[in-house]
Amino acid sequence: MAVIPNQIVGAFQEHFKTEAVPDVYRAPGRVNLIGEHTDYNLGYVFPIALEMSCYVAILPAAHGQLRIYSSDWNEEFSTLAEGIGSARPVERWSDYVVGVASELAHAGVPSTGADLWIGSNVPVGSGLSSSAALEVSTALALLGGQPFEPLQLARLAQRAESQFVGMPCGIMDQYASVFGQEHSAIQIDCRSLEHEYVPIPDDLRIVAVNSMVKHELGTSAYRERVAECQEAVAALRKTDESIQSLRDVSLAFFERVQESVPLVPRKRARHVISDTQRVLDLAAASRAGDLIEMGRLFIASHRSMQYDYEISCEEIDFLVDTAIKLPGVYGSRVTGGGFGGCTVNLVAPEHVEAFQTALTEAYVARYATRPIFYDCVPAAGAGRVS
Ligand code: ADP
Ligand code: MG
Repeated sequence: MAVIPNQIVGAFQEHFKTEAVPDVYRAPGRVNLIGEHTDYNLGYVFPIALEMSCYVAILPAAHGQLRIYSSDWNEEFSTLAEGIGSARPVERWSDYVVGVASELAHAGVPSTGADLWIGSNVPVGSGLSSSAALEVSTALALLGGQPFEPLQLARLAQRAESQFVGMPCGIMDQYASVFGQEHSAIQIDCRSLEHEYVPIPDDLRIVAVNSMVKHELGTSAYRERVAECQEAVAALRKTDESIQSLRDVSLAFFERVQESVPLVPRKRARHVISDTQRVLDLAAASRAGDLIEMGRLFIASHRSMQYDYEISCEEIDFLVDTAIKLPGVYGSRVTGGGFGGCTVNLVAPEHVEAFQTALTEAYVARYATRPIFYDCVPAAGAGRVS
């Protein structure tokens, strides 16, 4: 890791043809362990921040522009720093950066001219949140050390994505990127926006497996699910007017009154309410070091997403069903938005190698595609790289 800042500084200097030394900021991607699509229902989520991160190097410049270079896209985008608060999206990757600058301007931190170099090792579009990593690292870079409440930082980055870029998303990704902690998962209460760190057992490896598929259902299905959850809330309010969101509905209450909810919203609600409970159960099992119970909750969560929330797909189900039959695998489930992307697996350390070999063989035989494996070590949240 120590060499990375130097490489970034060197790459910055080469690209912008300068010898001046930029400041470098880092923000991590994340993998969510359980509690999926619960964030916009104000329930709990349970992500870990990853070592895989987005890095932004920044240097103030007299030209009055924000010159933004993504080394991953090998593209540069420039826009006037003054008046960035009224910028409009142009449907490119740069929207994530300009969106953050624009939201910062609205929050009383206007941009001045600067050169930004971006490089990330978070896989893009795989459900490990390269977008939040980009937003949060950009926000820190533009702030340049000015104090800013961490929670406000996460919310600002989320607004950049949901309002400026126009990608509907909850608060989890940006929150995890800001608040990550080594050795720990972050239990986030998406209603109060408070969190608690939960230690992850040492004798466990968390392995994300990239299916290498992304079905183009993602955004439209997301909006559909949001609407179906609202429909469920509206139906449940007929029994209890105090219900504001699915977070206000206990599993016991839901089971009693579920017949009053139309079938599809009922299934969506059942997933959200049960997965919110599974966050609390997984946290308890993790604290107790009960790997078997953690695995059981993983599989229950996957089935819930497969049959009730209906956001899995054939390739992902194949990865899960194959993984859970392998020695040393406690549990496996889809993570992130769904319809492809990654599964997340709980594996005994001594079995990780054989797990990867067996899963690769099976997946290649079936889909002629090699999955990619990511070792997910819980890492610290965003900050300046010294
Ligand atoms: P995920 O967050 O799961 O990786 P998203 O679709 O939410 O997937 O975000 C991916 C988008 O974020 C990319 O298409 C691109 O627009 C932007 N992005 C992420 N990382 C970078 C990067 N290093 N350089 C430029 N754009 C990036
Ligand atoms: Mg994203």
